[in-house]
Amino acid sequence: MYRRHLLKYLGASALGGAIAYSRSFPASATTLDQIHWGYIGAASPEHWGELSPDFQLCQTGRQQTPINLEDTTVTESEALIFNYHPTPLKIINNGHSIQVNYTPGSALTFKGESFNLLQFHFHHPSEHQITGQPFDLEIHLVHRSQAGKLAVVGIFAQTGTFNPVLQSIWDVMPIQPQPEQITANTSINVSQLLPSDRSFYEYRGSLTTPPCSEDVLWFVMQQPIEASKQQIQQFAALFPHNSRPLQPLNSRTVLHSS
Ligand SMILES: [Zn+2]
Repeated sequence: MYRRHLLKYLGASALGGAIAYSRSFPASATTLDQIHWGYIGAASPEHWGELSPDFQLCQTGRQQTPINLEDTTVTESEALIFNYHPTPLKIINNGHSIQVNYTPGSALTFKGESFNLLQFHFHHPSEHQITGQPFDLEIHLVHRSQAGKLAVVGIFAQTGTFNPVLQSIWDVMPIQPQPEQITANTSINVSQLLPSDRSFYEYRGSLTTPPCSEDVLWFVMQQPIEASKQQIQQFAALFPHNSRPLQPLNSRTVLHSS
């Protein structure tokens, strides 16, 4: 994958690049930024691999995400060390999800390697499942190491009590695709969206959107957080279904922290 393009898919638009709006471009567009993909019809996940040679891994990849998390191997894994700081609330609707771009300086450390937090975004319903059970929402915290290695933390949300942190995002989420908005005087700390139990699943996967690049380190938190029914519905009203179907595990092993 070309680094410049990949950066755009990771939401590095905050760093100065242009923003891709798939909805604004015809399907015949030829550059990677402009290829229309989505979740229904001719541009739905089962066709992603046919939409562009750059999307081939979506079809041919053997380490694709999401997966059903079961039959895991329990290990005494090293802990995930979250070092997240508050960031001004910079939010975009990129046509595929609501995304919050993070100011540089927050990081995840695993086995001594540091991954900088770039952005987080939402899927409805969840993309991963635990023993065949989906959740109402899944939040993806996308990180990149200095060497360019990707690590994504997945957090499930299920219907329950009102979530004030999510609400601060929902209150300003753009209804239509549009460039990044900075909300004056509002900051957010994604660490407040982490579950209290820090056990997690770990496996090697991919991006869940085109170009479906592999060699992504996945950490999916086992304990879901909660959001009210109304909050789930508020997101679902904008994105009724922005989740890729489950992918085959193939020969991969899923680890579960003890
Ligand atoms: Zn995602």
